[in-house]
Amino acid sequence: MTQHQSSGNRAAASGSPAVAVLDAVAERYVKLVLAIGQHDAAYVDAYYGPPRWQDEAIARQQDLASIRHDIDAARTLMSTQRPSHDDDVQRLAFLDKQLRAMQARVDMLGGTVFSFDEETERLYDAVSPHHPRAYYEDVVRQIDQLLAGPGPVSERVNAFRSQFAIPPDRLRAVMEAAIQAGRERTLHYIALPPSENFLLEFVSDQPWSGYNWYKGNFQSVIQINIDLPIYIDRAVDLGCHEGYPGHHVYNVLLEQDLVRGKQWPEYSVYPLFSPQSLIAEGTANYGIELCFSDDERLAFEQQVLYPLAGLDASLAPRYAQLNRLLAQLGYADNDAAMQYLNGAMTREQTMEWLIKVRLYPAEKAAQRLQFYEAMRGYVINYNLGQDMSRAYILRHATSPDAAHARTQRWAAFRQLMASPRPPSALL
Ligand SMILES: [Zn+2]
Repeated sequence: MTQHQSSGNRAAASGSPAVAVLDAVAERYVKLVLAIGQHDAAYVDAYYGPPRWQDEAIARQQDLASIRHDIDAARTLMSTQRPSHDDDVQRLAFLDKQLRAMQARVDMLGGTVFSFDEETERLYDAVSPHHPRAYYEDVVRQIDQLLAGPGPVSERVNAFRSQFAIPPDRLRAVMEAAIQAGRERTLHYIALPPSENFLLEFVSDQPWSGYNWYKGNFQSVIQINIDLPIYIDRAVDLGCHEGYPGHHVYNVLLEQDLVRGKQWPEYSVYPLFSPQSLIAEGTANYGIELCFSDDERLAFEQQVLYPLAGLDASLAPRYAQLNRLLAQLGYADNDAAMQYLNGAMTREQTMEWLIKVRLYPAEKAAQRLQFYEAMRGYVINYNLGQDMSRAYILRHATSPDAAHARTQRWAAFRQLMASPRPPSALL
């Protein structure tokens, strides 16, 4: 109720021509995203605006050249606008970055091939740092020492990890407990609408390990891919990333604050290959460490998740140590994707890199290759997005008091999620 009142006040107060143009471009933007969705099945990640607009996109089948022309025209129109309120200035800047990414995606659908870094700059407004093999091999050596023994280190990692696979019949209980813990911690700092909820499903035959499908009305479907074994550490990761305080919360806040609160229709659609994804994936990954410090996480896993999964909790500290080292190999994924997609490494060389440098099991490495082929430069959104989100949030949480700094981190996290801010503005 409060939200409808405030949006009414805003509409009455903001009759400026610049805002009228922004509103018109925003509606145009939503329709153009839906039009691109007719050429690219993965493009529209979520849409809960007027169903009529989706029906129109399906009926019209606008061609790529005409879509490109309309995006160009929308950007030209916006470039002449000078809104006076900060809110509208940010709204315009973000919308323009989204439209710029749409130009690149339409060009790619028309056959343009960008280099990896150029693609990520255009689509996600960010470029990943790159490292040589030796940089990662330093970390691999530390893992080699942690799990000392005969045979290749990648095989020792996989043998060690095999003790931590969640038995399939325990998977639902473990995942539900992990999501619930993330939800409780989130609700302590972020108020959510009472009707928000999610459905948890287990699926197979997908290139990703988990997915949040946002349905509107504060509801999500969280899917967990069970093609490969799910290890106990993934429960907290996936629960926080897909659910609370990650993607589910992100989408609920956008709907509550921006779509309903400010009546900004552009947030009722989520184009996957756009700067919005760096914020979405980055906050979802940062949300894990925001929810649980290393010690809190270890205690929760040992006391709750290991018993639920029927696993030996005394092994948890060593496994957590391994996972902290493996996390330092995160950018090896970006480098593998870049080299493979730029044609600098063959499929076999990329597999070798993923197994020996990134220390993935062979089946996981094959799944990653499939992910790079489908999603291309999207891979940077996870680790680079996480690092950019963390840096931004820590700049806004400087209190010397630990409890107060934690409250500040949550406040900055919420603000980062629910206000228009292109990735390059985080730097
Ligand atoms: Zn995600």
